[in-house]
Amino acid sequence: MKTIGLLGGMSWESTLEYYKIINELVSKKLGALHSAKCLLYSFDFEEITEKQKAGKWGELGEMLGNAAENLEKAGADFVLICTNTMHKVAEDVQAKISIPLISIIDATAEDIQRKGLKKVGLLGTLFTMEDGFYSEQFSKHGIETVIPEREEREFIHNVIFSELCKGIFKEDSKERFLEIINGLIKKGAEGIVLGCTEIPLLIKQKDVEVPVFDTTEIHSKKAVELALE
Ligand code: GLU
Repeated sequence: MKTIGLLGGMSWESTLEYYKIINELVSKKLGALHSAKCLLYSFDFEEITEKQKAGKWGELGEMLGNAAENLEKAGADFVLICTNTMHKVAEDVQAKISIPLISIIDATAEDIQRKGLKKVGLLGTLFTMEDGFYSEQFSKHGIETVIPEREEREFIHNVIFSELCKGIFKEDSKERFLEIINGLIKKGAEGIVLGCTEIPLLIKQKDVEVPVFDTTEIHSKKAVELALE
């Protein structure tokens, strides 16, 4: 079994999900008392969000790159950035290491293609929805992205940071998310990408009429597939 390197703590609420899903899958596939070999570097999320707000993406790339380098030195066979947003600096991170960085965007795109969809709605932080790195990568896979209206995007972003990343789950926030999702379906979205690793804690497939892409689960599954190859 290969060793999975995780860059986590962004937020730790979703890193817990990664750890749980990865271990559950390894246990299911190998049986007995098997569990995943993994190394976790968990950031202080406040330090990350301060730099995000200040637009210091170069410094963030360096911080994540250094941590990835340490995971490689410690024996990781490949690395996952356990957040969609921080894939904005994925190239900087990959440049620091000689082991593969497994992209959450590519893993999700592969899943969308397997389901034969061409146009999806994207929910995530403002960075993920607006900065282009996500939709541009999707378009390389032939997938078109639709995003919510500006005021809806701000609502989603604020709920992510002031509720979901703190383990707060409110029914009225969930209802508003579902209204926004329905708006995206009306705009032609054939599926909805939960493109923030905390959103699957609030929105489940059973809440939505079209296929939902849980990026935390997809990324974790991809890691286990590679670890057991
Ligand atoms: N976990 C979230 C994501 O997947 C947001 C946290 C962050 O800003 O990195 O985008």
